[in-house]
Amino acid sequence: MFFSRELSVFNAMEPIVSGLFEEHYVKSGILECSCNQCQMDIVLLALNHLPPRYTSGQAGEAYIKAIYQEPQLQSDILRELTKAVQVIRDSPRH
Ligand SMILES: [Zn+2]
Repeated sequence: MFFSRELSVFNAMEPIVSGLFEEHYVKSGILECSCNQCQMDIVLLALNHLPPRYTSGQAGEAYIKAIYQEPQLQSDILRELTKAVQVIRDSPRH
């Protein structure tokens, strides 16, 4: 296996899912519990149910902005976030 620190690969879905979660759930105050543990668990659960979109550090920002605008992607993410919010509300780990 070859790992290089120069090769900073990351999943573009991470900032997008966190951003939409913040915008639609955290700011609106509809979460039953908004402790760090619950917020983290919701985002992780949603991310694990969504296909990753890998990108690299340099090109990453433009790529994220571009796919953030996709209406289909946004609705997929919000659907998974809604499910994740219900799962964590029913069995919180805090
Ligand atoms: Zn909590």
